[in-house]
Amino acid sequence: MKVLIIGSGGREHAIAWKIAQSSLVEEIFVSPGNGGTAKEAKCQNIDLKGIDEYVTFVKENKIDVTVIGPEAPLVEGIVDEFKKNNLKIFGPSKTAANLEGSKIYAKEFMKRHNIRTAEYEIFYEVERALEYIKNATYPCVIKADGLAQGKGVVICNSFEEAKDTLEKFMVEDIFKGSGKRIVIEEFLEGVEASILSITDGKTIIPFISAKDHKRIFDKDMGPNTGGMGVVAPNPYVTEDILEDFRKNIMIPTIDGIKKDGLDYCGIIFFGIMITKRGAYLLEYNVRMGDPETQAVLPLMKSDFFEIIFKAIDGKLEDVEIEWEKGFACNIVAASKGYPGEIEKGFEIRIGDVENKVFIAGAKLEGENLITTGGRVLSVTAIGETLEKARAKAYADMKKIYFEGMQFRGDI
Ligand code: ATP
Repeated sequence: MKVLIIGSGGREHAIAWKIAQSSLVEEIFVSPGNGGTAKEAKCQNIDLKGIDEYVTFVKENKIDVTVIGPEAPLVEGIVDEFKKNNLKIFGPSKTAANLEGSKIYAKEFMKRHNIRTAEYEIFYEVERALEYIKNATYPCVIKADGLAQGKGVVICNSFEEAKDTLEKFMVEDIFKGSGKRIVIEEFLEGVEASILSITDGKTIIPFISAKDHKRIFDKDMGPNTGGMGVVAPNPYVTEDILEDFRKNIMIPTIDGIKKDGLDYCGIIFFGIMITKRGAYLLEYNVRMGDPETQAVLPLMKSDFFEIIFKAIDGKLEDVEIEWEKGFACNIVAASKGYPGEIEKGFEIRIGDVENKVFIAGAKLEGENLITTGGRVLSVTAIGETLEKARAKAYADMKKIYFEGMQFRGDI
């Protein structure tokens, strides 16, 4: 079969690499792809722009299945457009993608279906929000309703910080519409975990849990990033937590999808906070996480493409996913300056590495990989123990070099 993957990050490289291992798949196109997907088995990059171009390409080239990496095309409604044209696609409909695209929609969905989450209030007018924060408990969390590239959530420790945030979001409108409506939420203390899952709208199957490392520097110092490394499974997700998550978050979510009649065939990413009172849902993402995907897919023994295909056919109930017994450690290498302004255009030298290198922000020029983005690449190693996986991944990191390369030493 022929597959089209949309996206350009390390996540899409990992998806392409895993799908290429399927005996059902002959050819993979990645749009726009990156320097890693350009060299991956069965893969070639292609530069398509916009939903119409995707539809035309898929029809003309008889692509069997399209897989979406990032959230933007899903929120824009690519799935609805493909379905109108009778094309097979893996991802939720535009309405269902609101679970990520609108924090208000997501919180109301959680409340309606008794999904355990932080207490919250919704505000459409700055005056009412300013009134509310006078008597709020601090810290509190202010969230822009729409997509804001990971910058739309602020933990406020005082009235002054909250007021400042409300003004930026609702009056100055720094997110161009996304922050005009907001959620103010109870602050939850605990450890975060990411749990990916796959659904066909009727059945939901969780993947192995993961732990992202969001801050740029060791010991969780410095600003937030897209993610600097992952371990999987997440050591804090015990059997008890997993059971709690299933009962209070995952099952009510799939029940809610059915009750609301949402057209959802794809990935649901649960961002959870493990607190003293149990697991709480922080957010849904309607696609795979980056870099979680780079740690979770290497642990999957089953044929990922076959599972996607079953999901599209609505036959996920027949599926059982097999996992490696060990641990995965994924370490991200970023450009100098990241997550601020970066320096790019440097050649990447990769020595004799023993584990998988996923490329994110780099392009292929001739035979050379040249840095183009903030997060440039990552290494994933698997080991019987987390310590072994970590040691293997760091040993490979020493064999990789580009000017200004930075990575955390404590993943
Ligand atoms: P991203 O897409 O980058 O994951 P986002 O902008 O969609 O983030 P959330 O994931 O909801 O927003 O929040 C971002 C981060 O803020 C979380 O990973 C968590 O660390 C923190 N956070 C969110 N809500 C709460 C809360 N209620 N209590 C404590 N921390 C929170």
